[in-house]
Amino acid sequence: MTMFNFHTHDLSAHDAIISVSPSCFDPQSGQLYSVGIHPWDTTNDWLQDWDLLEKHSHHPQVVAIGETGLDTLRGAPLGVQIEIFKNHIALAEQVRKPLIVHCVRAWQELIATWRHTAPHRVPLAVHGFRGNANVARQLTDEGFYLSFGAHFNAEALAVTPHDRILIENDDSNTDITSIATSAAQALAMSVDEFTILTSDNARRFISSQGLNYFSRVGKSDLR
Ligand SMILES: [Zn+2]
Repeated sequence: MTMFNFHTHDLSAHDAIISVSPSCFDPQSGQLYSVGIHPWDTTNDWLQDWDLLEKHSHHPQVVAIGETGLDTLRGAPLGVQIEIFKNHIALAEQVRKPLIVHCVRAWQELIATWRHTAPHRVPLAVHGFRGNANVARQLTDEGFYLSFGAHFNAEALAVTPHDRILIENDDSNTDITSIATSAAQALAMSVDEFTILTSDNARRFISSQGLNYFSRVGKSDLR
């Protein structure tokens, strides 16, 4: 049974969604990607990247749009980031692929932007979630998935509905299995149970686009 790594920047990762910028998208056989303009890159001339992103968004190995989002500590002024984020939401709806979001200290703006662009046919996941239990409740009330990494808040994990929990190692060197082991412990679950839960959640998240990439994995690998 393999742990599915929901968000990583490790280009060699398998059973993972590899997050890349549009200019770095170079699909290798058997790998899955998300492509988007990171909030930190919004100070660049992003329009050129945008054209590339639109092109890559149709690629079958691109299973999600992102990471996109809002960051009050880095990148362009928040108003600009919100506009770029809205463009990503519109693109995701158009190509019917889910959204992977980076959000730092802009939770209310994230919720407001999402509500403003409703209704949605694709789900949204906040990756690298380190917020507290209160924020976790607000975000999961919106229907968001939360992807937990090396620095997760155990109380937030505990209040997150089980069908919204994802696991990732992002750009850390921490092995996905050791992150999953501590998350499983925090939930009083076995690592196997946690692997099944988070793999099922990732599959449901991605299959919103109607692609079942898990078909290459035997059912016995998932159960
Ligand atoms: Zn990342």
